[in-house]
Amino acid sequence: MSSSPPASSDEPARLFRSEDELARLPASERIRYRLVNADCRHHANDNIAAFVRDGEVEELKAEVQAKMQEVLRALVIDTDSDHNTNETAKRVAKMYIDEVFRGRYVPMPAVTEFPNAERLNELMIVGPITVRSACSHHMCPIFGKVWIGILPNEHSNLIGLSKYARICDWIMSRPQIQEEAVTMLANELQQRVRPDGLAIVMEADHFCMHWRGVKDNQSAMVNSVMRGAFLKDANLRREFLSLLPRKND
Ligand SMILES: [Zn+2]
Repeated sequence: MSSSPPASSDEPARLFRSEDELARLPASERIRYRLVNADCRHHANDNIAAFVRDGEVEELKAEVQAKMQEVLRALVIDTDSDHNTNETAKRVAKMYIDEVFRGRYVPMPAVTEFPNAERLNELMIVGPITVRSACSHHMCPIFGKVWIGILPNEHSNLIGLSKYARICDWIMSRPQIQEEAVTMLANELQQRVRPDGLAIVMEADHFCMHWRGVKDNQSAMVNSVMRGAFLKDANLRREFLSLLPRKND
């Protein structure tokens, strides 16, 4: 293992451990060490891609598989003779890291921004975008839809329609809390598009309400974020909300 200094300048200072020492730790400990050293929050819905190096996602998957096997063992499931659960730990690890929580470990999808050459300044609505996520509290699925309203100005950067869905998916592919998820999405779009107004509505079904707990089948949750012109202008807000087809679809 090389002990040469890290190449990138945003690398956290190596306060206590050498690269050699780090290399002997499980990947999750190595990544955590970098995050803690950089004083970087790493809650369930944070993206930590900047702290994950090449090959470490595969190491994480192997770690999660081993721990998941322990969970099955603690549930007193005989995974050796039960052909149904034989490969379950492996499947769940792959599902978490490569699919449903992928948005924690990979950088944001590349998004090309176009200057607003046509000086569009009319309300633009994107949606419904399908949302697949999981709640941070129970790791149960969340299924829903998101609508995004944008009021661009002449200085706004426009992004292709499909990119809204990709950014949304990247943020939702983490254990989430709906109200935090819509705020994260709003921050990301605000930063990129810089519109005069930004509105987001998310309506979702939380399976922890269906599958466990109160077992309520009528429990869709709706959250919205309104910024800039959408906050100040009640007519614009009404126009946006009236164009959402969510009541009858
Ligand atoms: Zn839950």
